[in-house]
Amino acid sequence: MKPFNRRAFLAAMPAALALPSLAAESNSSTAEPVIKPMKNSIIYRFSIGDIEAFSISDGTLRFGPPDKMMYPEDQRPLMKTTLEHESEPTDGIPCYINVLVLRWGKEVVVIDPGFGAGSRPRFGWLFDAFEQIGIKNEQVTAAFLSHAHIDHIGGLVNGNKPAFPNAAVYVLQDELDFWFTKEPDFSQSHRNPAELPGLIKGNREKFEILKPQTHAMKSGASLFDGRIIIEAAPGHTAGHAMFRISSKGESLLHIADLVHHWILMFHDPSWLIGLDHNLAISARTRKKVFENESAAHTRLFGFHLPWPGLGRVAQFGTGYRWLPEALRWDK
Ligand SMILES: [Zn+2]
Repeated sequence: MKPFNRRAFLAAMPAALALPSLAAESNSSTAEPVIKPMKNSIIYRFSIGDIEAFSISDGTLRFGPPDKMMYPEDQRPLMKTTLEHESEPTDGIPCYINVLVLRWGKEVVVIDPGFGAGSRPRFGWLFDAFEQIGIKNEQVTAAFLSHAHIDHIGGLVNGNKPAFPNAAVYVLQDELDFWFTKEPDFSQSHRNPAELPGLIKGNREKFEILKPQTHAMKSGASLFDGRIIIEAAPGHTAGHAMFRISSKGESLLHIADLVHHWILMFHDPSWLIGLDHNLAISARTRKKVFENESAAHTRLFGFHLPWPGLGRVAQFGTGYRWLPEALRWDK
């Protein structure tokens, strides 16, 4: 066997295989790699029967730590150890904002359109995604609103005009009643009282802008030949709604703000976020939905769950677990 000759070996080696540490020795100067600014994908396309569906990230936000945001207060140490067990941060609650867009035939339907185009660049990415997909605001035929918090209703208006001028806007009557009652009742929430007058005023203004196109609905209402059914899921707000979407034997339940964290609220459905308007009702609703939908193995879409927000809820120990769906590029 010939003795190993390093120089002969390097000379015979194709340039592409040259090791970086050896390249320096050969004295050739290599240009620094150019790092171009880029953004991760914000659009995930999937289908529900004959419906083309898109989960679009409208941006990300971070709530305060669980020991400020979560209730009951005496459970906070247990919440912290639960997060530590899963190697999840305990210094803030990451919050995703997933907007669901549906398209079939001439229909373009948006469910909870995020913060709105005016809040770019931090939020409002829905409208960047529209440009990529090729959807114009005027083409949106229907918009559904789960409840009137700014991360959901913001995208329905653009300044003092409707963002989707040709869309019917569907919202539960209970939600409208709550915001337009003389004094909306926040006595069962942990919301900062100082922010309430601005919140109420802002929502009334937005609903006034949307009034000509708004349809107040009752729970169980079925639209588009049963493709979308509105289901009341009160607690986060009085008229908080979920949307059951079905087509050709496939279905998806949009659970809106039933859940704000993919570990905490599943580990114990009675753990609550202080943003809920009525904590007791919110916990009751969540338990019922988890019980029913885990038994039915329903495909779920969570507005605040890790993007793209698709998965299932499964019973686990004394509580539940979020089982995210594997991403697919073949359909
Ligand atoms: Zn929300």
